[in-house]
Amino acid sequence: MTNSRISGFYRYTPEERLDLVAQARGLTEEEKQIMSGEIPFPLRSANVMVENVIGTMAIPLGVATNFKINGKDRFIPMATEEPSVVAGAGNAARTSYALGGFYTSLSGSIMRGQIQVLDVADPYGAMARVYENKQSILDRCNAKDPTLVSLGGGAIDVEVHVMERSKEPMLVLHLLVDTRDAMGANAVNTMAEAVAPFIEEVTGGRVVLRIISNLADRRLVRARAVFSAEELGGPEVVANIVRAYEFAECDPYRATTHNKGIMNGITAVVLATGNDTRAVEAGAHAYAAVSGRYRSLTHWEVNREGNLVGTLELPMAVGIVGGATKSHPTARLALKIMDVQTAEDLAGCIASVGLAQNLAALRALATDGIQRGHMALHARNLAMMAGATDEQIEVVVKQAIQEKDVRYDRILALTKQLQTGVGDGNQSG
Ligand code: NAD
Repeated sequence: MTNSRISGFYRYTPEERLDLVAQARGLTEEEKQIMSGEIPFPLRSANVMVENVIGTMAIPLGVATNFKINGKDRFIPMATEEPSVVAGAGNAARTSYALGGFYTSLSGSIMRGQIQVLDVADPYGAMARVYENKQSILDRCNAKDPTLVSLGGGAIDVEVHVMERSKEPMLVLHLLVDTRDAMGANAVNTMAEAVAPFIEEVTGGRVVLRIISNLADRRLVRARAVFSAEELGGPEVVANIVRAYEFAECDPYRATTHNKGIMNGITAVVLATGNDTRAVEAGAHAYAAVSGRYRSLTHWEVNREGNLVGTLELPMAVGIVGGATKSHPTARLALKIMDVQTAEDLAGCIASVGLAQNLAALRALATDGIQRGHMALHARNLAMMAGATDEQIEVVVKQAIQEKDVRYDRILALTKQLQTGVGDGNQSG
């Protein structure tokens, strides 16, 4: 892998950037055409993924540079429609590069499947009987997925919870399943459904819900990095960033947007790799509130050298097999571009991007404000909205940025002026 610090990557054309990444990661000509959309995602493939298909929808895919993760340089593919996300991640990552980049760990790859049992006469007696039959329960689950078992995964344990606050006594069983390199929802749901009749036998109750929990608290990813105070703009900027984080720690209104910024990066990589964005988002927000109060998913501190230390911890149920990870050609290539070999590896990359993204937003907020970095792309979007052609977009954007006034009414006036040759070019409104 070449160095991920490609200077001025943003200045290249999309074709040149693809060439650079393709060269570094050994993409074939056909793979390049898939990536650029020259070979489109076939309708017949979309039709086997979801129902009532009439088309496909393209989302821009950018590559964030400057990421060194666990000592290895990475290109990070990000699928997002939001301006500034890809640039923000790469810029923040650059300030950690010389200090070692990102370090990550995963607590395991264990998912929980929940089985709800109603009409149990003796919930605590039933709980004890479930534990007595634990091995039998696990064997029945594992018989459903010999592939997973052969890979060292499968159902490994059972937990039983009595829901005392429900109107009627309710027993909830948790199947703990090691899903290895898969996200695991299908695997876990299949096991939960298969073992349900046996659970009814053992508990004397009636099973209703059998479904994975997205609060994947046995699959926590952690990322850590030190960011150079000097590169961030000095001690005052660092202090403001820490104060911005403290704001999120004590106020859920701020924490929600703070965590949304983290998810800007996380969701973009989850989507690019064909993983389930909703599963990761649900887990992240639930985990942010796990203490009983909704809080920041990151922590920011200053070390003895005055540099900024960032850490992020959240559930990360992602896979490199299963779901759309292998069946969507672009997702498969995104994994290749990132050079991930395991789900653990992927989870670490995603968490690193989340941490970098949070820093990018905090730094912008604590200095120039968030709008400045958005301006060029925002102006471009507005010009497109106003009906400007490709050539007109360039002229209109340049003028609006020069005037430091990126507003729709002004961009519309500039576009109309170019198209009709009428107008004095003065600011409207
Ligand atoms: P899957 O069933 O497509 O693939 C998992 C299977 O792949 C495993 O059961 C195993 O048999 C096999 N496998 C082969 N190599 C493996 C390896 N190295 N490691 C692990 N397993 C390996 O997919 P899945 O991961 O079970 O389910 C993910 C899909 O479920 C996603 O598309 C998600 O959107 C969907 N889903 C999510 C929810 C939810 O999150 N609440 C609910 C239902 C479905």
